[in-house]
Amino acid sequence: MTFDQMGIKDDLLRGIYQHGFEKPSAIQQRAVRPIIEGRDVIAQAQSGTGKTSMIALTVCQIVDTSSREVQALILSPTRELAAQTEKQILAIGDFISIQAHACIGGKSVGEDIRKLENGVHVVSGTPGRVCDMIKRRTLRTRAIKLLILDESDEMLSRGFKDQIYDVYRYLPPELQVLYLSFLFIVYYAVGPTLTRYATV
Ligand code: AMP
Repeated sequence: MTFDQMGIKDDLLRGIYQHGFEKPSAIQQRAVRPIIEGRDVIAQAQSGTGKTSMIALTVCQIVDTSSREVQALILSPTRELAAQTEKQILAIGDFISIQAHACIGGKSVGEDIRKLENGVHVVSGTPGRVCDMIKRRTLRTRAIKLLILDESDEMLSRGFKDQIYDVYRYLPPELQVLYLSFLFIVYYAVGPTLTRYATV
């Protein structure tokens, strides 16, 4: 399969090719289509396989850049991963003028507030800071349609479960979810609670 066959918008394709990607990696081939089609997806993938780029690609595809509301939220277990995901979204989404922001601990809260109030399409963050921004009503969740839990097994083992539930309570009911994990165990944990999911 090629990127051209994946139903990706033209300006996003330009960004992908400009970034030097010629052919989708295995995880990109398996996961992009069901996500774009609106299904919940449980994907088993480890870092270095094109996982972060797959997240960037799908987020850029589903976001409507004519609106300034946050439409996709990515939660990651570490600040580094959250920042790397933000960077990849900005790189691939250059031609669609995507606005992304990393909400991570250790950075100034004032900067988060300024960026979020200016309007961003995507937030990539760690559960604690994201939860804080939602509770301050700085991060508006009304228009979020896609939640991505990256390295979800790692997030659970680091004790983020309560914070993830906390964030989840603020998200709209018509939410599409992408679970990524290294261990396939996430499938057994969340699969039965979903109604329209694909495992890839
Ligand atoms: P990731 O797992 O997304 O962090 O990707 C690991 C490395 O592979 C990064 O340097 C990416 O830029 C690169 N990469 C990801 N997807 C592709 C692709 N389809 N073609 C070539 N390189 C890629």
